Amino acid sequence: MQDRLKKHIRDIPDFPKPGIVFKDITPLLQNHAAFEETIRSLVERYVDQEIDTVVGIESRGFLFGTPLAHQLGAGFVPVRKKGKLPYKTIDISYDLEYGSATIEMHTDAIEKGEKVLIIDDLLATGGTAGAACELIKRQGGDVVECAFIVELAFLNGREKIGDVPIHSLVSYS
Ligand code: AMP
Repeated sequence: MQDRLKKHIRDIPDFPKPGIVFKDITPLLQNHAAFEETIRSLVERYVDQEIDTVVGIESRGFLFGTPLAHQLGAGFVPVRKKGKLPYKTIDISYDLEYGSATIEMHTDAIEKGEKVLIIDDLLATGGTAGAACELIKRQGGDVVECAFIVELAFLNGREKIGDVPIHSLVSYS
């Protein structure tokens, strides 16, 4: 599967800034067979795990998280960059290579003891997913796993996520 999916992930050198190779997943979304295989493989992995809520990280996490939540019979919750969510929020800041970022979720999004699956398109340094895990734990949620379509393994993002298991479909080393 990894080789099949890699054919639909495009490298864009120097985007959004010099030195970054951006992994563009829009060709994967555009190809029905590749997108179907992606979602099916995630559904098969989590269907028996009684996931209550799928948390998708802005913005490409929404693209995979919503069909997955729907097929798992789970709810979907967005984690967004600060200032985008309309209701009361809880937020967390985390360090980037230069500066910091803040993400937030609605205060009523997760109930104590809920089994939560986090999903984003790509694991790079792990800062974003690590912060999302912390946000959910503060709300009393139980993070079962963090799932990614793509993992940039050479950035060691797994280390920032601590004791939460990580699953990725495609890995670049
Ligand atoms: P990080 O917090 O470093 O793990 O960064 C993860 C977030 O940044 C994800 O939401 C990704 O969509 C995005 N991201 C970081 N690096 C890349 C990259 N090389 N290609 C595509 N997206 C990236």
